[in-house]
Amino acid sequence: MLKLEDTYLHKGKRKALVALLREKGIKSESVLNAINNLPRHFFFDSALISHAYEDKAFPIGEGQTISQPYTVAFQTELLDIRQGDKVLEIGTGSGYQASILHIMGAEVYTIEYQKKLFEGTKRFLARLGIEMNLFYGDGSEGLLSHAPYDKILVTAGAPVVPNSLLKQLKIGGVLVIPVGDKRRQTMLKLTKKSNTKVIREEFDSFSFVPLLGKDGWR
Ligand code: SAM
Repeated sequence: MLKLEDTYLHKGKRKALVALLREKGIKSESVLNAINNLPRHFFFDSALISHAYEDKAFPIGEGQTISQPYTVAFQTELLDIRQGDKVLEIGTGSGYQASILHIMGAEVYTIEYQKKLFEGTKRFLARLGIEMNLFYGDGSEGLLSHAPYDKILVTAGAPVVPNSLLKQLKIGGVLVIPVGDKRRQTMLKLTKKSNTKVIREEFDSFSFVPLLGKDGWR
C-alpha cells in the first residue's frame, strides 16, 4: 500500500512547481496556495511518483490521465472559487482536481464514467480523509439530482457545450469546459446571466482525453 508521506523534498518540489505556474501566468493566490498545500504525489502510482511535480499529465489507469498542474490551475482560476460554492466536476479521474476544489472551500460533487477509477478514487479519498460527493456514471448530461450548481467544471474534452450543463447552473453561475475535436480543445468560460443570456469567453487551447457519453463523444 502506498505510504502517504509528505517530505521536505516533496514540499520543495511543490514550491518550485508553484513558482513555475506563476511564471506561466497563474495569478490567483488561492489556487497557488491550494496547489502548494496538496501533495500531488499522493495521487500517483508509486512507479511514477518521482514525476509528480513535473508540469505534465500522467496516466492513472483505464486509459485516463491526471491533468497537467497548469491545466488544473488554469481551469480553477477561471472558476473563481468562493468559500461554500457548490461545484460539479465532470471527470473525477484521480480525485486531484476535486481535492483542490475541496481544500479551497467548495462543496464538491464529482462524477466519473470509468467504474474502476471511480471505485479506486473513492477508496483513496476516504483514506486521505477528504469528504466529498462521488458519483459513478455519465456526467456529460451533468448531475440533475443535485442541481443547481454555482460552478461546473468539465475535465475532459467535449465536442459541444451540453445544454443540460447550462440548465443545471444557477443564475450567475459559471461553466468551464474545453470544447473542440478529439485532439485539441479551446477552453471556454460560460457565465449564465439569466435563463436566456449566457456570456461566452474563449481562452487558450488544451489537449484533454475525450468526454464520453450521451452528450460527449459516443
Ligand atoms: N480531473 C481528473 C483528475 O484530477 O485526475 C482528471 C480527469 S481526466 C483528464 C478526464 C476524466 O474524465 C477521466 O477520468 C474520464 O474517465 C472522465 N470522463 C470522460 N467522460 C466522462 C463522462 N461522460 N462522465 C464522467 N466522467 C467522464
